[in-house]
Amino acid sequence: CGIVGYVGSRSATEVVVEGLRRLEYRGYDSAGIAVVADGALASTKRAGKLANLEKALHESPLPAASTGLGHTRWATHGAPNDRNAHPHLDESGRVAVIHNGIIENFARLRSELESAGVSFASDTDTEVVAHLLAAEVAAGANLADAMRAVCLRLEGAFTLLAVHAEVPDRVVAARRNSPLVVGLGDGENFLASDVSAFIAHTREALEVGDGQVVEITPDGVTLTDVRGAPVAERRFHVDWDA
Ligand code: GLU
Repeated sequence: CGIVGYVGSRSATEVVVEGLRRLEYRGYDSAGIAVVADGALASTKRAGKLANLEKALHESPLPAASTGLGHTRWATHGAPNDRNAHPHLDESGRVAVIHNGIIENFARLRSELESAGVSFASDTDTEVVAHLLAAEVAAGANLADAMRAVCLRLEGAFTLLAVHAEVPDRVVAARRNSPLVVGLGDGENFLASDVSAFIAHTREALEVGDGQVVEITPDGVTLTDVRGAPVAERRFHVDWDA
């Protein structure tokens, strides 16, 4: 339901949790976060209010990191419990994905993956994306190419964000019939389902067109269509108060 991604030099956990709080008004049933630190992913997720996630993070803090993503879930496939909360990781724990929307053909993709020996850790439609991205990366694709290849296999509506343990300073995202915007900072950049998540940090933003894939680093944004062709940037300034 709510989506936030961050790359920069500040605490990703703080920026992401604060962003999720600003998206709370949309309603949700669970919340989670993943950060990339020292070549590994660390993730915490909890059913219920953001306060449950914050309590878990307080009791067992994630490592210091400046790349991360977070999600508030409104369950469509799978009960609203801890294991179905996002992010979802691949089996190696190196790819983390968050998702708004519905992957209509997830059942077919899931049985295909299960036939190939992949075991699932949740009942969500989302988890197939983590395994598909991991397979693309294992076959040699970079994360953005992997995202484009996976999008071509998905039916339905989605905003997807992904990070990889071995790719610090980078969050990759895609959208189809589901909202996603980029917040442009100074040495930091943001992704969110709604500008409210980042207007405390920047009011300079970039539209992500339907069907596009975007990659953010602390110093840049790369926007392409699903086949990898560059697309024109459409900047806008957020001049209202949230
Ligand atoms: N369909 C996904 C799920 O049930 C995402 C729901 C959402 O948009 O929050 O986990």
